[in-house]
Amino acid sequence: MRVTVYCASSAQVDPAFFEAAEQLGNALVDAGAETIYGGGNIGLMGRLADTILARDGKITGIIPQFMKDVEYDHPAVEEMICVPSMHERKRLFLDKAHAVVALPGGCGTLEELLEVITLKKLGLFLQPVVIINTRGFFDPLLQMLDRCIEERFMRARHRAIWSVITDPTTVMDAINNAPPWDKDAIRFAAIE
Ligand code: AMP
Repeated sequence: MRVTVYCASSAQVDPAFFEAAEQLGNALVDAGAETIYGGGNIGLMGRLADTILARDGKITGIIPQFMKDVEYDHPAVEEMICVPSMHERKRLFLDKAHAVVALPGGCGTLEELLEVITLKKLGLFLQPVVIINTRGFFDPLLQMLDRCIEERFMRARHRAIWSVITDPTTVMDAINNAPPWDKDAIRFAAIE
């Protein structure tokens, strides 16, 4: 099982977010999963990687060359795939993933999360997408997605694209219990 994790690069966030990253890292190692992430060495990314490395778990970073040039890459992550662009990185994140998990983060994390939701809506990605809602961080985004449904920009059935948990230790249950997604989702992607 390969799990792609999107999460913050910021190192200045509340300790509760770091704790969530650590709990997630431990849960993924306990499950014998391989973690794929943005390859960073600071913020929640750094904490996630450090936790997994300390447990001798499997972790792969995917980082664009320009970030490597300014030493954003984690020096202790041996499996570091260097790619030419942000777009190629995001493609590989999903190419390799059996599930995607989002921890809190800034615009990078939000963009990655909304991209995977969009691709799943179109039937181009079919795997579970789990949002870890530490301290209610994602509440405004979840409200926005609800609003999209209320205003008929999306269908109510699109709510099954993602699941939300607060306790990172339950991540594998959330992945395993995610409702299956229709490979023909393109047929109900648009609202006419
Ligand atoms: P943000 O949430 O804006 O901090 O962006 C974090 C997300 O974007 C991660 O999931 C990474 O894929 C990517 N990213 C942004 N900044 C960095 C960084 N300094 N090092 C590695 N990846 C980053």
